[in-house]
Amino acid sequence: MHRDLNAMRTADFDLLVVGAGIHGACVAWDAVLRGLRVGVIDRDDFGAGTSANSLRIVHGGLRYLARADFARMRESVRERSALLRIAPHLVRPLGVLIATRGRGAQSRSAMRAALALNDVLTFRRNRGTGPGQSIPPGRVVSRAEVKRLFAPLDQAGMTGGAIWYDGQMVHPERLTFAFLAGAAGGGASLANYLRADAILVEGDRVQGVRATDTVTGEALEIRAQCVLGAMGPWTGELGGGSRPQAFALNVILNRRLADVAVGVRALSTAEQDPVIGGGRYLFAVPHGASTLLGTWYAIAGDAVAGSADDSALIERGVRSLIAEFNAACPAARISAGDVLRAQWGRLPLKGRLEPGRPDSLADRPRVFHHADQGGPRGLVTLDGVKYTTARLVAERAVDLVFSVLGRPGVPCRTTHTPLPDTRVPASDPEAAIRLAVRSEMAVHLADVVLRRTDLGAPPGPTREVVETAGRTAGGELGWNVATQEAEIEDVMRRTTAGARELEPAR
Ligand SMILES: Cc1cc2nc3c(=O)[nH]c(=O)nc-3n(C[C@H](O)[C@H](O)[C@H](O)COP(=O)(O)OP(=O)(O)OC[C@H]3O[C@@H](n4cnc5c(N)ncnc54)[C@H](O)[C@@H]3O)c2cc1C
Repeated sequence: MHRDLNAMRTADFDLLVVGAGIHGACVAWDAVLRGLRVGVIDRDDFGAGTSANSLRIVHGGLRYLARADFARMRESVRERSALLRIAPHLVRPLGVLIATRGRGAQSRSAMRAALALNDVLTFRRNRGTGPGQSIPPGRVVSRAEVKRLFAPLDQAGMTGGAIWYDGQMVHPERLTFAFLAGAAGGGASLANYLRADAILVEGDRVQGVRATDTVTGEALEIRAQCVLGAMGPWTGELGGGSRPQAFALNVILNRRLADVAVGVRALSTAEQDPVIGGGRYLFAVPHGASTLLGTWYAIAGDAVAGSADDSALIERGVRSLIAEFNAACPAARISAGDVLRAQWGRLPLKGRLEPGRPDSLADRPRVFHHADQGGPRGLVTLDGVKYTTARLVAERAVDLVFSVLGRPGVPCRTTHTPLPDTRVPASDPEAAIRLAVRSEMAVHLADVVLRRTDLGAPPGPTREVVETAGRTAGGELGWNVATQEAEIEDVMRRTTAGARELEPAR
């Protein structure tokens, strides 16, 4: 794979995907499998936006069962199965533990009934999944078992625990990349660090986009019959109209709290938690030798993700999240000193926040053809809500693209077509760095360290490791001393305590 700028200058694509987070990546893979000539651009590195900052859970939809929303529950389960099937090297089952207590909805008998119903309703969940990828039935466990799994959960009133299984993305950045590598293998042309500046329209029809290569500064026009914007929080920038947004933050802790994900119900009130309305579940998710803890939400205001104004919000988020977790689970005794890094992003809301309305996060993706709303023909917007369901939303978007292009539909094959195995070559970091630069389009050292290899995994690389990686990448990319130093400093800033993972596009 290489930055295919020549194709960007000369090709006339059937479909140009703007934005290569998980949604754009899934669209590209699906469209290529259905025979379209596809171009993909991102103004940053692939998957460096919201998709790199998730809690890594592939949701199985149990919470939809609690709301008796069976359609959405089945949808989530189907998507979890699809990811376990097509990317077994990057998605695996994850046990989730919560405490049981009292006589109500969280009692042992209520949880036993809910898990049994979940098991029955999802009896097809393991069809086609490989060895070690099966989702076991949920179960209610004893107090002693809870203590064994995560002792701090044992509090007055606890009667035991309930365990169910979701999926876990081992490496969300590599998973996004696997969809793109599949698309490239099928003939798509890709370029990161290529920003769409404006949509080109003639009459009422889209012709492509005007773009800037942010590496060289070159301006170019990319021609396409159909342009699909999958720009996450930046959807509004190319006319897709943006929904109000919540700011969402996780922290990475310096130790592994448990081998299962642990959920505790926050004690916060609706006033303290205007986005979810209070009482939300906080999850501590095992992540190698560390733990991802999340999620804290706030109203995003008008600040663009990554702007300087975020720093106060981030600090407040880290403090509040730790305080909320400790209040719900005092024996865990998390302190600010345990935080290796914070990660954050923005998520769409259902609408303007209304006091007292529970869970204001948008739960429905938007996929629409602008011509249906008085805009130009050939422009499609996709505005997703979860990593988990990105494949399905992309399937709907590509169906729409076929109708926009006026072509007979071609069936989607992404639920069963295995993704290329883009595992990081583990044994030889230097080989992995060279591969990232030569064949995986890494342009900056941060691309190599944070997204193509495991070098940036918590607790984060030492300066010595970053400097060695910088020398290898710099040798490949022809950096002078000043550039190499700047690239090294950039990575150090992103991987040390409180570092910012979601930076403004370069
Ligand atoms: C803290 C947090 C925790 C989460 N946890 C989970 C979870 O556990 N499970 C789950 O399923 N979901 C989770 N989510 C939701 C999930 O991460 C997002 O729904 C998903 O990643 C959004 O992907 P996307 O492709 O729509 O957006 P993004 O990943 O943001 O991609 C958009 C891309 O568009 C590019 N772009 C923008 N403007 C332009 C332009 N002009 N030209 C070219 N490119 C452009 C950006 O650079 C970016 O790469 C979480 C989200 C957050 C913030």
